Amino acid sequence: MSQQLLLVGNWKSYITSTEGAIHLVKTLDKKLPKKLKSKIVLVPAAPLVALVRYVYGGKRMSVGMQDVTQHEEGASTGSVTAAGVVGSGATYCIVGHSERRKDGETNVDVARKIRLLLDAKVTPIVCIGELERDRDGNFYNILEHDVAECLARILPQEVSKVVIAYEPVWAIGASAAPASRVVSEALVFIRKTIASQFGREIALKMKMLYGGSVSPSNAHELLHLGHVNGFLIGRASADADQFIGIIKACQ
Ligand code: PEP
Repeated sequence: MSQQLLLVGNWKSYITSTEGAIHLVKTLDKKLPKKLKSKIVLVPAAPLVALVRYVYGGKRMSVGMQDVTQHEEGASTGSVTAAGVVGSGATYCIVGHSERRKDGETNVDVARKIRLLLDAKVTPIVCIGELERDRDGNFYNILEHDVAECLARILPQEVSKVVIAYEPVWAIGASAAPASRVVSEALVFIRKTIASQFGREIALKMKMLYGGSVSPSNAHELLHLGHVNGFLIGRASADADQFIGIIKACQ
């Protein structure tokens, strides 16, 4: 399982101006370690994606979109279609984020979006995570159900083209990340679920990220004890020093 780590910075709506986006990208570019061991993906808000791609033409950082519509291109006002994602220069796209699910997005929607993205040759980053923990372990059933529904439209040979981000909703925007054991148990469970759906070999090839209050001070431990292939980072990715701190902790 020695893959290159994937560090995805979801800027959410923390950065909203052209100046702010340009400043962040240029600062990151300047401060990235020379021998970078991870693949970096910057995910600005939709209106800034093409700009970020335009300002940064290098290969060390890729650009992603925060969401995609299920609609085809054409008469769909206000939507970012899969073709629009490609046209913006983004090569990754987050789907199923809890902040979209809160507004009604379902696993069925997520499965359709994954299909459209794969057809457009964009890598989907699929967020899965329980709202809360319960003592009886019912959250495991939720995770199993979410994985099965979200991956319902993909073929076994496509599994390695999809990235899973385990994001327990209770850990997003929290004061601290969960213990690495908690993360590792959930990721092992999700990988086993994928293995039972698609086979062990395929499941082992899948990149699985952790997301939820990752910071420069917890990244190293989460990485080494949490069985993760990288991180999906919110708040800290909109701050150059914090994001660089996480990148360095993963070197
Ligand atoms: C997220 O919302 O995807 C996330 C990981 O947020 P934060 O890092 O701010 O907890």
